[in-house]
Amino acid sequence: MRRALFLDRDGTLNAEVNYLRRPEDLVLIGGAAGALREARQHGWAVVVVTNQAGVARGLIPPEALVAIHAKLVAELAREQVTLDGIYVCVHHPDAGCRCRKPEPGLLLTAAAELEIDLTRSWMIGDRETDLEAGRRAGCRTALVLTGYGQTTAASGYPADLIAPDLAGAVQRILNGGAA
Ligand SMILES: [Mg+2]
Ligand SMILES: [Zn+2]
Repeated sequence: MRRALFLDRDGTLNAEVNYLRRPEDLVLIGGAAGALREARQHGWAVVVVTNQAGVARGLIPPEALVAIHAKLVAELAREQVTLDGIYVCVHHPDAGCRCRKPEPGLLLTAAAELEIDLTRSWMIGDRETDLEAGRRAGCRTALVLTGYGQTTAASGYPADLIAPDLAGAVQRILNGGAA
């Protein structure tokens, strides 16, 4: 059973854009790829878990989502990073699905498919819904201050770790998760 870093996408791995719908608007946050490369070298699985309700709302064509994730995979590959998976909830918030964060469904599905030990894994994100999904899945939680992270920090959500950005969070987790 492997340990995983579960990553939110927008505002955590790439710069927050309201309803990102064009591949050219996907920009990785500085240092993210290098940190993930190091994590994988240490045996961590790296799994993206993302809510994309814009698909259900008709704002993001499904083929655009495919193109955006192809760009994400290509950008990371240029930095020698391979993702173990990208798990997406495309449902409307009112649909009552079990995968839209803060529900833990995306993490639970990934854990089953990729043989991940959730209790030794971390969820890293910029919103309370990310951290809550991680907590409900039995993971530890890391808040990044990119994206909506400053607002989330102000709300006082009890994350296990708070870091300026993804690279900082990964570094602390690789060092044992100490605050
Ligand atoms: Mg986010
Ligand atoms: Zn869903």
